[in-house]
Amino acid sequence: MEYIKAIDKLGRIALPISFRRKIMLSENDNVIISVEEDTIIIRGAQVKCKLCGKNQAQEENKKICESCIAEIINM
Ligand SMILES: [Zn+2]
Repeated sequence: MEYIKAIDKLGRIALPISFRRKIMLSENDNVIISVEEDTIIIRGAQVKCKLCGKNQAQEENKKICESCIAEIINM
């Protein structure tokens, strides 16, 4: 999915909610911004689950995500 967004006078753009939900970004979360050739890359600074690799909400700051913990408990 792609969007066309206008950059405001301070250089800001709003990230679409669907993008933020997809990588589990919430208000006040940190992102890592980098540039490669002519492309700007914005990625969440979240911790990834050590078992499944899925991004976790930043405030959780656990090594394993909730769904993996639930799976382990139900084994
Ligand atoms: Zn997991």
